[in-house]
Amino acid sequence: MARIGFIGLGHMGSGMAANLVRAGHEVHAFDLSEAALAKAVDNGCLAAKSAAQAVKSADAVVTMLPAGKHVGEVYRGSVFERAPAAAILMDCSTIDVATAREVEAEASGRGATMVDAPVSGGIAAAEAGTLTFMVGGSDGGFERARPFLEAMGKAVIHAGAAGAGQAAKICNNMLLAASMIATCETFLLAQKLGLDPQTFYDIASKASGQCWSMTSYCPVPGVGPDSPADRDYEGGFAAALMLKDLRLAMDAADSVDAYTPLGAHAEELYARFAELGGAGKDFSGIIKMLGASAT
Ligand code: NAD
Repeated sequence: MARIGFIGLGHMGSGMAANLVRAGHEVHAFDLSEAALAKAVDNGCLAAKSAAQAVKSADAVVTMLPAGKHVGEVYRGSVFERAPAAAILMDCSTIDVATAREVEAEASGRGATMVDAPVSGGIAAAEAGTLTFMVGGSDGGFERARPFLEAMGKAVIHAGAAGAGQAAKICNNMLLAASMIATCETFLLAQKLGLDPQTFYDIASKASGQCWSMTSYCPVPGVGPDSPADRDYEGGFAAALMLKDLRLAMDAADSVDAYTPLGAHAEELYARFAELGGAGKDFSGIIKMLGASAT
Protein backbone atom coordinates (compact mmCIF):
# COMPACT_ATOMS: atom_id res chain seq x y z
CA MET A 1 0.00 0.00 0.00
CA ALA A 2 1.28 3.44 -0.90
CA ARG A 3 0.36 6.93 0.21
CA ILE A 4 -0.87 8.83 -2.85
CA GLY A 5 -1.57 12.54 -3.28
CA PHE A 6 -4.34 12.96 -5.90
CA ILE A 7 -5.16 16.43 -7.24
CA GLY A 8 -8.07 17.06 -9.62
CA LEU A 9 -11.14 14.95 -8.84
CA GLY A 10 -13.43 16.00 -11.67
CA HIS A 11 -15.20 13.76 -14.18
CA MET A 12 -12.12 11.62 -14.76
CA GLY A 13 -10.13 12.01 -11.53
CA SER A 14 -13.08 10.92 -9.40
CA GLY A 15 -13.21 7.37 -10.79
CA MET A 16 -9.42 7.10 -11.05
CA ALA A 17 -8.89 8.01 -7.38
CA ALA A 18 -11.62 5.53 -6.38
CA ASN A 19 -9.77 2.76 -8.22
CA LEU A 20 -6.54 3.57 -6.37
CA VAL A 21 -8.47 3.28 -3.10
CA ARG A 22 -9.91 -0.05 -4.30
CA ALA A 23 -6.37 -1.26 -5.01
CA GLY A 24 -5.60 -0.70 -1.32
CA HIS A 25 -3.79 2.64 -1.45
CA GLU A 26 -4.22 5.52 0.98
CA VAL A 27 -5.36 8.40 -1.23
CA HIS A 28 -5.08 11.97 0.03
CA ALA A 29 -7.26 13.99 -2.32
CA PHE A 30 -7.56 17.68 -3.14
CA ASP A 31 -9.75 19.66 -5.53
CA LEU A 32 -10.73 23.33 -5.61
CA SER A 33 -14.34 22.17 -5.87
CA GLU A 34 -15.86 21.17 -2.54
CA ALA A 35 -18.42 18.98 -4.27
CA ALA A 36 -15.68 17.05 -6.09
CA LEU A 37 -13.77 16.60 -2.84
CA ALA A 38 -16.89 15.41 -0.99
CA LYS A 39 -17.49 12.79 -3.69
CA ALA A 40 -13.88 11.61 -3.37
CA VAL A 41 -14.38 11.18 0.38
CA ASP A 42 -17.53 9.12 -0.33
CA ASN A 43 -15.30 6.95 -2.53
CA GLY A 44 -12.87 6.31 0.31
CA CYS A 45 -10.30 9.09 -0.20
CA LEU A 46 -9.04 11.27 2.65
CA ALA A 47 -9.73 14.98 2.15
CA ALA A 48 -6.73 17.31 2.14
CA LYS A 49 -7.07 21.04 2.78
CA SER A 50 -4.68 21.98 -0.02
CA ALA A 51 -2.63 20.47 -2.82
CA ALA A 52 0.43 20.92 -0.62
CA GLN A 53 -1.18 18.90 2.18
CA ALA A 54 -2.28 16.16 -0.23
CA VAL A 55 1.26 15.53 -1.48
CA LYS A 56 3.06 15.84 1.87
CA SER A 57 4.81 12.54 2.71
CA ALA A 58 3.40 10.98 -0.49
CA ASP A 59 5.02 7.99 -2.23
CA ALA A 60 3.24 8.95 -5.44
CA VAL A 61 1.39 11.97 -6.83
CA VAL A 62 -1.34 11.85 -9.50
CA THR A 63 -2.78 14.97 -11.14
CA MET A 64 -5.86 15.06 -13.41
CA LEU A 65 -6.38 18.72 -14.27
CA PRO A 66 -8.06 20.63 -17.11
CA ALA A 67 -5.06 22.11 -18.99
CA GLY A 68 -1.34 22.97 -19.02
CA LYS A 69 -1.89 26.19 -17.08
CA HIS A 70 -3.36 24.29 -14.11
CA VAL A 71 -0.66 21.63 -14.24
CA GLY A 72 2.08 24.31 -14.16
CA GLU A 73 0.39 26.06 -11.24
CA VAL A 74 -0.12 22.92 -9.16
CA TYR A 75 3.40 21.52 -9.66
CA ARG A 76 5.22 24.86 -9.30
CA GLY A 77 2.96 26.11 -6.51
CA SER A 78 2.73 22.97 -4.36
CA VAL A 79 4.05 19.64 -5.58
CA PHE A 80 7.70 20.57 -6.14
CA GLU A 81 7.98 22.25 -2.75
CA ARG A 82 5.99 19.81 -0.66
CA ALA A 83 6.17 16.31 -2.14
CA PRO A 84 9.15 14.21 -1.08
CA ALA A 85 11.85 14.09 -3.80
CA ALA A 86 11.47 10.29 -3.82
CA ALA A 87 7.78 10.42 -4.82
CA ILE A 88 6.91 9.38 -8.38
CA LEU A 89 4.98 12.22 -10.05
CA MET A 90 2.34 11.33 -12.67
CA ASP A 91 0.39 13.92 -14.61
CA CYS A 92 -2.55 12.22 -16.35
CA SER A 93 -4.16 15.43 -17.70
CA THR A 94 -4.21 16.12 -21.45
CA ILE A 95 -1.96 19.16 -21.91
CA ASP A 96 0.36 20.70 -24.49
CA VAL A 97 3.60 18.87 -25.19
CA ALA A 98 5.73 21.96 -24.43
CA THR A 99 4.35 22.43 -20.89
CA ALA A 100 4.64 18.69 -20.19
CA ARG A 101 8.33 18.81 -21.16
CA GLU A 102 9.02 22.01 -19.16
CA VAL A 103 7.40 20.71 -15.97
CA GLU A 104 9.17 17.37 -16.28
CA ALA A 105 12.52 19.11 -16.82
CA GLU A 106 11.91 21.18 -13.67
CA ALA A 107 11.03 18.02 -11.75
CA SER A 108 14.17 16.29 -12.84
CA GLY A 109 16.24 19.44 -12.06
CA ARG A 110 14.99 19.03 -8.49
CA GLY A 111 15.97 15.37 -8.38
CA ALA A 112 12.35 14.14 -8.74
CA THR A 113 10.98 11.67 -11.29
CA MET A 114 7.95 12.65 -13.31
CA VAL A 115 6.02 11.12 -16.21
CA ASP A 116 3.26 12.47 -18.44
CA ALA A 117 0.55 9.81 -18.62
CA PRO A 118 -2.53 11.07 -20.49
CA VAL A 119 -5.39 8.68 -21.02
CA SER A 120 -7.61 7.37 -23.77
CA GLY A 121 -11.11 6.38 -22.65
CA GLY A 122 -13.81 8.53 -21.08
CA ILE A 123 -15.60 8.82 -17.76
CA ALA A 124 -16.98 5.25 -17.90
CA ALA A 125 -13.47 3.84 -18.47
CA ALA A 126 -12.11 5.99 -15.62
CA GLU A 127 -14.76 4.50 -13.32
CA ALA A 128 -14.30 0.94 -14.57
CA GLY A 129 -10.50 1.13 -14.38
CA THR A 130 -10.15 0.39 -18.08
CA LEU A 131 -8.28 3.48 -19.30
CA THR A 132 -5.33 3.29 -21.69
CA PHE A 133 -2.31 5.26 -20.47
CA MET A 134 0.33 6.61 -22.88
CA VAL A 135 3.40 7.39 -20.87
CA GLY A 136 6.25 9.77 -21.55
CA GLY A 137 9.37 9.72 -19.39
CA SER A 138 12.48 7.74 -18.54
CA ASP A 139 12.53 3.92 -18.43
CA GLY A 140 12.91 4.11 -14.64
CA GLY A 141 10.04 6.58 -14.29
CA PHE A 142 7.80 4.38 -16.44
CA GLU A 143 8.53 1.30 -14.32
CA ARG A 144 7.80 3.19 -11.11
CA ALA A 145 4.56 4.67 -12.47
CA ARG A 146 3.31 1.44 -14.05
CA PRO A 147 1.80 -0.30 -10.96
CA PHE A 148 -0.21 2.81 -10.05
CA LEU A 149 -1.42 3.32 -13.61
CA GLU A 150 -2.30 -0.38 -13.92
CA ALA A 151 -4.66 0.03 -10.96
CA MET A 152 -6.58 2.58 -13.07
CA GLY A 153 -6.32 1.14 -16.57
CA LYS A 154 -6.32 -1.86 -18.87
CA ALA A 155 -3.21 -0.84 -20.84
CA VAL A 156 -0.10 1.14 -19.91
CA ILE A 157 2.24 1.87 -22.81
CA HIS A 158 5.62 3.59 -22.74
CA ALA A 159 5.49 6.10 -25.62
CA GLY A 160 9.03 7.50 -25.23
CA ALA A 161 10.80 10.35 -23.44
CA ALA A 162 9.15 13.26 -21.57
CA GLY A 163 6.17 14.66 -23.50
CA ALA A 164 5.82 11.55 -25.68
CA GLY A 165 2.62 10.51 -23.89
CA GLN A 166 1.02 13.86 -24.74
CA ALA A 167 2.32 13.65 -28.32
CA ALA A 168 0.79 10.17 -28.74
CA LYS A 169 -2.53 11.31 -27.26
CA ILE A 170 -2.99 14.33 -29.55
CA CYS A 171 -1.82 12.45 -32.65
CA ASN A 172 -4.30 9.66 -31.89
CA ASN A 173 -7.14 12.11 -31.38
CA MET A 174 -6.31 14.10 -34.52
CA LEU A 175 -6.60 10.83 -36.47
CA LEU A 176 -9.84 9.96 -34.67
CA ALA A 177 -11.38 13.38 -35.43
CA ALA A 178 -10.49 13.21 -39.12
CA SER A 179 -11.69 9.61 -39.43
CA MET A 180 -14.97 10.41 -37.66
CA ILE A 181 -15.68 13.33 -40.01
CA ALA A 182 -14.80 11.16 -43.02
CA THR A 183 -17.13 8.42 -41.71
CA CYS A 184 -19.97 10.92 -41.23
CA GLU A 185 -19.71 12.48 -44.67
CA THR A 186 -19.37 9.08 -46.30
CA PHE A 187 -22.59 7.78 -44.73
CA LEU A 188 -24.39 11.00 -45.68
CA LEU A 189 -23.23 10.68 -49.29
CA ALA A 190 -24.07 6.96 -49.41
CA GLN A 191 -27.59 7.74 -48.23
CA LYS A 192 -28.05 10.51 -50.80
CA LEU A 193 -26.90 8.08 -53.47
CA GLY A 194 -29.72 5.75 -52.42
CA LEU A 195 -27.72 3.24 -50.36
CA ASP A 196 -29.31 1.81 -47.24
CA PRO A 197 -27.01 2.74 -44.26
CA GLN A 198 -26.99 -0.81 -42.85
CA THR A 199 -26.17 -2.27 -46.27
CA PHE A 200 -23.38 0.23 -46.78
CA TYR A 201 -22.07 -0.57 -43.26
CA ASP A 202 -22.08 -4.30 -44.05
CA ILE A 203 -20.04 -3.62 -47.18
CA ALA A 204 -17.60 -0.95 -45.93
CA SER A 205 -16.90 -2.71 -42.64
CA LYS A 206 -15.61 -5.67 -44.69
CA ALA A 207 -13.86 -3.50 -47.29
CA SER A 208 -10.87 -1.17 -47.33
CA GLY A 209 -12.85 1.78 -45.88
CA GLN A 210 -13.15 -0.03 -42.55
CA CYS A 211 -12.14 2.10 -39.54
CA TRP A 212 -12.85 2.29 -35.79
CA SER A 213 -15.12 5.35 -36.18
CA MET A 214 -17.43 3.24 -38.31
CA THR A 215 -17.25 -0.29 -36.88
CA SER A 216 -16.97 0.53 -33.15
CA TYR A 217 -18.58 3.96 -32.90
CA CYS A 218 -20.87 4.38 -35.89
CA PRO A 219 -22.31 7.93 -36.05
CA VAL A 220 -25.53 6.66 -37.69
CA PRO A 221 -28.25 5.62 -35.18
CA GLY A 222 -29.21 1.96 -35.30
CA VAL A 223 -26.16 0.92 -37.32
CA GLY A 224 -23.22 -1.02 -35.85
CA PRO A 225 -22.73 -1.73 -32.13
CA ASP A 226 -24.42 0.43 -29.48
CA SER A 227 -22.87 3.93 -29.56
CA PRO A 228 -23.74 7.53 -28.53
CA ALA A 229 -25.59 7.89 -31.87
CA ASP A 230 -28.22 5.56 -30.38
CA ARG A 231 -28.72 7.99 -27.45
CA ASP A 232 -29.07 11.20 -29.46
CA TYR A 233 -25.30 11.73 -29.11
CA GLU A 234 -25.43 12.06 -25.32
CA GLY A 235 -22.55 10.69 -23.19
CA GLY A 236 -19.40 9.47 -24.87
CA PHE A 237 -16.57 11.89 -25.70
CA ALA A 238 -17.71 15.52 -25.73
CA ALA A 239 -17.04 17.53 -28.89
CA ALA A 240 -15.58 20.31 -26.67
CA LEU A 241 -12.86 17.91 -25.49
CA MET A 242 -12.17 16.80 -29.06
CA LEU A 243 -11.82 20.46 -30.02
CA LYS A 244 -9.41 21.00 -27.11
CA ASP A 245 -7.26 18.08 -28.30
CA LEU A 246 -7.35 19.28 -31.92
CA ARG A 247 -6.16 22.73 -30.83
CA LEU A 248 -3.30 21.11 -28.91
CA ALA A 249 -2.48 19.05 -32.02
CA MET A 250 -2.47 22.13 -34.27
CA ASP A 251 -0.23 24.07 -31.85
CA ALA A 252 2.13 21.10 -31.70
CA ALA A 253 2.10 20.82 -35.53
CA ASP A 254 3.00 24.52 -35.83
CA SER A 255 5.82 24.14 -33.34
CA VAL A 256 7.53 21.47 -35.48
CA ASP A 257 6.47 22.79 -38.92
CA ALA A 258 4.30 19.75 -39.72
CA TYR A 259 1.75 19.98 -42.56
CA THR A 260 -1.59 18.70 -41.20
CA PRO A 261 -4.35 19.97 -43.53
CA LEU A 262 -6.95 17.40 -42.48
CA GLY A 263 -6.23 18.03 -38.80
CA ALA A 264 -6.66 21.77 -39.41
CA HIS A 265 -9.94 21.23 -41.24
CA ALA A 266 -11.19 18.93 -38.48
CA GLU A 267 -10.41 21.66 -35.93
CA GLU A 268 -12.38 24.18 -38.01
CA LEU A 269 -15.39 21.86 -38.29
CA TYR A 270 -15.41 20.95 -34.57
CA ALA A 271 -15.12 24.67 -33.67
CA ARG A 272 -18.20 25.36 -35.82
CA PHE A 273 -20.05 22.39 -34.29
CA ALA A 274 -19.27 23.70 -30.78
CA GLU A 275 -20.44 27.22 -31.72
CA LEU A 276 -23.70 25.79 -33.03
CA GLY A 277 -24.39 24.23 -29.63
CA GLY A 278 -22.74 20.83 -30.06
CA ALA A 279 -19.96 21.31 -27.46
CA GLY A 280 -21.59 19.02 -24.90
CA LYS A 281 -22.68 16.39 -27.42
CA ASP A 282 -20.63 13.33 -28.31
CA PHE A 283 -18.13 14.14 -31.08
CA SER A 284 -19.91 11.76 -33.50
CA GLY A 285 -22.89 14.18 -33.34
CA ILE A 286 -21.06 16.30 -35.92
CA ILE A 287 -22.91 14.16 -38.49
CA LYS A 288 -26.00 16.28 -37.80
CA MET A 289 -24.18 19.50 -38.66
CA LEU A 290 -22.63 17.95 -41.78
CA GLY A 291 -26.02 16.58 -42.83
CA ALA A 292 -27.63 19.99 -42.43
CA SER A 293 -24.91 21.78 -44.43
CA ALA A 294 -25.67 22.51 -48.06
CA THR A 295 -22.86 22.66 -50.59
P1 NAD B 1 -12.94 18.26 -15.03
O1 NAD B 1 -13.01 19.71 -15.36
O2 NAD B 1 -14.19 17.49 -14.78
O3 NAD B 1 -11.97 18.04 -13.76
C1 NAD B 1 -10.84 18.82 -13.47
C2 NAD B 1 -10.84 19.08 -11.98
O4 NAD B 1 -9.64 19.80 -11.65
C3 NAD B 1 -12.01 19.94 -11.49
O5 NAD B 1 -12.72 19.25 -10.48
C4 NAD B 1 -11.36 21.22 -10.97
O6 NAD B 1 -12.01 21.77 -9.85
C5 NAD B 1 -9.97 20.70 -10.61
N1 NAD B 1 -8.95 21.74 -10.54
C6 NAD B 1 -8.65 22.70 -11.45
N2 NAD B 1 -7.61 23.44 -11.03
C7 NAD B 1 -7.24 22.95 -9.83
C8 NAD B 1 -6.24 23.29 -8.88
N3 NAD B 1 -5.41 24.31 -9.09
N4 NAD B 1 -6.14 22.57 -7.76
C9 NAD B 1 -7.00 21.53 -7.53
N5 NAD B 1 -7.97 21.16 -8.37
C10 NAD B 1 -8.09 21.87 -9.52
O7 NAD B 1 -12.12 17.60 -16.24
P2 NAD B 1 -12.08 16.04 -16.65
O8 NAD B 1 -13.15 15.75 -17.65
O9 NAD B 1 -11.96 15.22 -15.42
O10 NAD B 1 -10.71 16.01 -17.46
C11 NAD B 1 -9.46 16.06 -16.81
C12 NAD B 1 -8.36 15.91 -17.86
O11 NAD B 1 -8.53 14.65 -18.53
C13 NAD B 1 -8.40 16.99 -18.96
O12 NAD B 1 -7.08 17.35 -19.27
C14 NAD B 1 -9.11 16.29 -20.12
O13 NAD B 1 -8.72 16.81 -21.37
C15 NAD B 1 -8.62 14.85 -19.93
N6 NAD B 1 -9.52 13.82 -20.49
C16 NAD B 1 -10.86 13.90 -20.26
C17 NAD B 1 -11.68 12.90 -20.79
C18 NAD B 1 -13.16 12.93 -20.54
O14 NAD B 1 -13.88 12.16 -21.20
N7 NAD B 1 -13.68 13.76 -19.64
C19 NAD B 1 -11.13 11.84 -21.53
C20 NAD B 1 -9.75 11.78 -21.71
C21 NAD B 1 -8.94 12.78 -21.17
